[in-house]
Amino acid sequence: AAFSSLTDRLSNAFKHLKSKGKLSEADIDGTIREIRRALLDADVSLEVVRSFTGRVRERALGEEVSQALNPAQQVVKIVNEELTAILGAGVDRPLNFAKNPPTIIMLAGLQGAGKTTLAGKLGYWLKDAGHTPLLVAADLQRPNAVTQLQVVGERAGVPVYAPEKGVQSDGGEAVAAPGQTTGDPVKVARDSIEFAKRKLYDVVIIDTAGRLGVDEELMKQARDIRDAVHPNEILFVIDAMIGQDAVKTAKAFDEGVDFTGVVLSKLDGDARGGAALSVASVTGKPILFASTGEGLKDFEVFHPDRMASRILDMGDILTLIEQAQKQFDEEQAREAASKMSEGTFGLDDFLEQLQQVRKLGPMKNLLGMIPGMAAHRQALEQLDEHEIDRTEAIIRSMTPEERRNPKIIDGSRRARIAYGSGNTVSAVNGLLERFEQASKMMRRMTNRAGMGGIPGFGG
Ligand code: GDP
Repeated sequence: AAFSSLTDRLSNAFKHLKSKGKLSEADIDGTIREIRRALLDADVSLEVVRSFTGRVRERALGEEVSQALNPAQQVVKIVNEELTAILGAGVDRPLNFAKNPPTIIMLAGLQGAGKTTLAGKLGYWLKDAGHTPLLVAADLQRPNAVTQLQVVGERAGVPVYAPEKGVQSDGGEAVAAPGQTTGDPVKVARDSIEFAKRKLYDVVIIDTAGRLGVDEELMKQARDIRDAVHPNEILFVIDAMIGQDAVKTAKAFDEGVDFTGVVLSKLDGDARGGAALSVASVTGKPILFASTGEGLKDFEVFHPDRMASRILDMGDILTLIEQAQKQFDEEQAREAASKMSEGTFGLDDFLEQLQQVRKLGPMKNLLGMIPGMAAHRQALEQLDEHEIDRTEAIIRSMTPEERRNPKIIDGSRRARIAYGSGNTVSAVNGLLERFEQASKMMRRMTNRAGMGGIPGFGG
């Protein structure tokens, strides 16, 4: 799939950061070098790579400190946000429908970009959403383009307006244009709008001619069609596999027809997909859709943020990061840390911390994210979710005095707690041992390093 090698490369770049407590400028520069190489190898244009890495570096070295994230996670977060930005966050929007139907959508792009295929997908998608679309064959350049659109339309169950006589829509209704329009794509387009109004089609999708390379004649024809029908959307379809030519092509079409949005096609194609990462930021136009295969349903609305998460292969982690930032109670963590350093951190505090952590999701994903939890890490890493349930049950069966001062928990108390929480005495023993170990560790750590020894609490 597109981006798969970029995804691997980026996750490697971050891997080096993960073990670090604090990042030096050299760490950040090393990571950024790897990100730069990964992006260039994915065919992202040099100008985009430069400004991207520049912004990431500046932010990573800047004063963005969040209590809830470790330094490596902060870099990932910055990369994710900047990736979202170059994929068009801020200019992203849904398809623009006309107030008075029909909505007119014109497709432009090089030959082979995937326009005709897209026309079918878009028609199918719109029909599914309750619209009554009409496809228009205004590509009269390529000998079999009209037939191809008819095949696509039939498969999608969407009628096709074509310049030949007697063409049948799949609904059995003739939607043929008068025969005399053959050969003039501008007239076909104009007539199709009249036809759509008469027949109450509410979206008209006009397929236009493409050439193998950008040329002025093609551009003029597209402009003439545009000026004849005043489309609500001019969608520039670009093959995501086009590589370094993406920027040149996109700029040419932007100047040539002033398109309103981008459709990335063949995102299923290869492992690079650099066009996707260049086009929005180079043209400032939103990417509205992505085409991900030859089938009618291999098509999706494009969301910059989701695509960025997908590229970084961290949808879940990002959600966790967001949740951590939303839910993490910094005040409580500060309190816990000061209790640790005073040696007054009891089992009830431990329970409170466990509950905070549980709000966030599965244990093993979270440990590194929670400031102040580093001291519990060894003990906690041995716990699975069931053990956490058990731990909670055991602590809940203790009296407040026992929680504050576990030393008083003798043999008979242990038996009572085991019975009360439905556990064995050895489970209670195990918990108390681990807590004792963790407390020792906390005291050592906090005494040696003060608050600075706890990640997230600064130096
Ligand atoms: P047009 O010349 O711009 O109309 O391009 P076509 O729609 O004819 O597409 C050119 C070729 O690319 C055809 O063989 C399509 O089946 C194929 N194609 C189009 N979109 C996609 C896509 O998203 N993924 C893949 N794998 N192939 C596609």
